[in-house]
Amino acid sequence: MFLPMADKSVPFTREFIESLADRYPTPFHIYDEQAIREKAREFSDAFAWVPGGFRNYFAVKALPNPHVMRVLYEEGMGFDCSSLSELLLCERLGIPGDRIMFTSNDTPASEYRKAAELGAIINLDDITHIDYLDEHVGLPELICFRYNPGPLREGNAIIGNPEEAKYGFTREQLFEGYRTARDRGVRRFALHTMVASNELNADYFIETARMLFELAVELKRELDITLEFVNLGGGIGIPYRPDQDNVNLSYVSRGIRKLYKEMMEPAGLDAVRIVTENGRCVTGPYGRLVSRVIHRKDTYKHYLGLDANMANLMRPGMYGAYHHITVLGKEGAPATHTYDVVGSLCENNDKFAIDRKLPRVEVGDLLAIHDTGAHGHAMGFNYNGKLRSAELLLHPDGTVTQIRRAETVDDYFATLDLESVEPVEAVMAGSGRA
Ligand SMILES: *Cc1c(COP(=O)(O)O)cnc(C)c1O
Repeated sequence: MFLPMADKSVPFTREFIESLADRYPTPFHIYDEQAIREKAREFSDAFAWVPGGFRNYFAVKALPNPHVMRVLYEEGMGFDCSSLSELLLCERLGIPGDRIMFTSNDTPASEYRKAAELGAIINLDDITHIDYLDEHVGLPELICFRYNPGPLREGNAIIGNPEEAKYGFTREQLFEGYRTARDRGVRRFALHTMVASNELNADYFIETARMLFELAVELKRELDITLEFVNLGGGIGIPYRPDQDNVNLSYVSRGIRKLYKEMMEPAGLDAVRIVTENGRCVTGPYGRLVSRVIHRKDTYKHYLGLDANMANLMRPGMYGAYHHITVLGKEGAPATHTYDVVGSLCENNDKFAIDRKLPRVEVGDLLAIHDTGAHGHAMGFNYNGKLRSAELLLHPDGTVTQIRRAETVDDYFATLDLESVEPVEAVMAGSGRA
C-alpha cells in the first residue's frame, strides 16, 4: 500500500510573508485555501460510491471561521456543531439544516431548541436526552444516537479508552432508545460513534465501520429499523511529524466498501448513507502559525523567544504535541543548532518545541509552525492577558484576506466594568488614609 509521507514544505516564501507583515503584524495563522479545497475533493472522490451520497460534516470546533466554512460548504461539506455559537455560525452563513449535525453532550435545552429551529440533525448523547428533548423541544422526525462501545473497543492516547469516555449510549440503551423513540413517533433513525482522535491507523476507521454495520444489521433484524445513515465520527489523524504517514482515504474507503457489500447489502441495507465528521484532517495541515523571533537567550539551554505564545497554539504546551517548525528563508539549511522555542507566558510549558534541531536562527527571523489549521487558533485562551492573533486566508490566486483580526486590549477588557472601578488614588484620598 502506498502512503505518501508528510509534506512539511510551506506554500509561501519569506519575502511573501515579509510583504504581508506590514499590513498584518505577526503572529498570525495563515490557511491555504487551495489545499483545503483539494482535501475536501479527496474526501468526495474517495467516497463517491456511497449510495445516496457521502458527506463529511466538518467539526466546526476545529476551525470556527465562517470564511473557511464557506469554502468547505462550496466543496460539499456539512458542519458538525456542539455548541450554540457553532450553530449560530451556521445560521449566519445560511447553512441548510440537513448540512448541520448537532453532536453535543451535556446539552442545555436552549441549544437543542436552536438546533431544532435550524432543522439540524440532532444526535443524542444519552438515553435520558430522549425525554429531555421531548419535554423541552419536542422530538424531531429524524433522530441519531451516539454509541459508546465501552470495553468492546480500545481507544487511543488522546480520546482515551471508550469505557472511560463520558460520551454515548451503551449497547443496551441504544436498542431501548430506538424502541422508545419509535413509540413516540420518530420515523427516521441514524447511528453515530466517535471512538478515535488523531488516529493514523487507517484500519481503525474500517473497523469502526464494521462495528456500526453490525449494529445496523441487528437493528434491522430486531426492531425492523432501517437506518438512514451511519456516522463514523471524526478522528482521522494528521502526520504532525515529518516521519509519519497520511491516512490514505481511498484505502479507508475501499475497506469500508468491501464491508458494506458483505454486511449491509445482504441484509437489505443497500441505501444506508455513510457520513463522517472529521475536522483535524480537513484543515489541520493547511494552516501555519507565523511568528517572529524577538529574543535569543542562552543560559542552561538555548532559547528562541517568539512573538507568539500558548494563547495562539495550545497543543504543544497542553499535550506535549509535536509541531514541525520551518525557518523561513532557511528551508534547505542544515539543522545544526538545538533550541527550545518559547512564548512569553509565565508558564514553563509555554514552549512550541523542546530541544528542536534547527538551522542557526537570528532575532528577526520568521518561523512557520506547522499544522495549526485545526484545534490551533480555536483552542486559544487569554491567560496572562495574552491576546489571540489574526487569521489570514491565502487564496488560490495568491492574494490574502484577513478573515479574523487580532484581539486588542479593548476586547480583553470588554467584559469588565472598568467605569465603576475607582482608581485607588481617589479611594485613598477620600478615606483620609493617604
Ligand atoms: C472533535 C469532534 C470531532 C472532530 O474530531 P477531529 O479529530 O477534528 O476529526 C468530530 N465529532 C465529534 C463529536 C467531536 O467531538
